[in-house]
Amino acid sequence: MDSYIDVKYVSLISPYLQQFKKKGDFLWNFRCPYCGDSQKSRTKARGFVYRRKNDLFYKCHNCGAGTTLGKLIQYLDSKTYNDYIFERYKKGVKTNNPEPEFKFDEPIFRKKGILKNLKSISDLSTDHPARKIIEERSIPFESFSDLYLCESFYQFTNTLIPNKFPSLDGDHPRLLIPFRDEQGEVFAYQGRAFGKEQPKYITIKLEERDKIFGLDRVDKSKHVYVVEGPLDSLFLDNCIAIAGVDVPQMDCDFTVIFDNEPRNKELLKQIERVIEKGHRVVLWPDQMNWKDINDMIIHGYTKSQIQEIITDNTFCGAAARLRFAEWRKINA
Ligand SMILES: [Zn+2]
Repeated sequence: MDSYIDVKYVSLISPYLQQFKKKGDFLWNFRCPYCGDSQKSRTKARGFVYRRKNDLFYKCHNCGAGTTLGKLIQYLDSKTYNDYIFERYKKGVKTNNPEPEFKFDEPIFRKKGILKNLKSISDLSTDHPARKIIEERSIPFESFSDLYLCESFYQFTNTLIPNKFPSLDGDHPRLLIPFRDEQGEVFAYQGRAFGKEQPKYITIKLEERDKIFGLDRVDKSKHVYVVEGPLDSLFLDNCIAIAGVDVPQMDCDFTVIFDNEPRNKELLKQIERVIEKGHRVVLWPDQMNWKDINDMIIHGYTKSQIQEIITDNTFCGAAARLRFAEWRKINA
């Protein structure tokens, strides 16, 4: 463990940072020194230092800036940065500071629009039960700023679609997952139950179009992965989710990754249709016990292990038909 030097330097740079607060074992929050943070509110602080594997990274949820702890220190004070590099060198810590996994070429300005009165998961304190549930599911931290706590899901929906829920009996909090179009506008959203409330997912369409999650982030010039669940899509690069609908027409190169449920009749029919259309599909290996990507992550698989399994288990055409016949455990 080499993070003790990093932790020490976080406290050494803290005098340069406004509203600096330690939020958890490896989580600090302060006003972003790059963009100056919210101009309207002097107390809003959307910059975070957090741990990923053994390294600390910086991310701002206001301007989207993201970098390594080393570069943040360098930006704040070059003298402290020289000390930091030297101290790491003395302790034999690799000097090539790894690059963070996220891209930060373009700042992301997410439009809050209809979500303006909701708190994002990143706005919640670390001991908030809703945030704890999200953290327990190991959802990537970078996604917290665009997932929301909706305290009264029925009531909230009725403000957008009058009388969508004629009765507010049994109204309850849900995790709100916004579906954004290419311009970042919300055209649908999904309310996921925090507990055992049924149904587990409620999807609300604000516009008549395919319910595809991740259109605001996907790069269609690259290979696109398609999964079923929006939360699952957050674990893979360049991944969108089709919330329970058939694979729509898409003008890009893509692979469809289904859940690992070979006994689910509806799913089997859907897979068959996708294979017949000639698309590339992922059929999980027989020894895989978990039913979706989030479950695999929770049970210890890393993103790169999952990526590798996906690559090794992608099929198309005749090979897909063969593997599918073997994979399905029942006759649909
Ligand atoms: Zn910023």
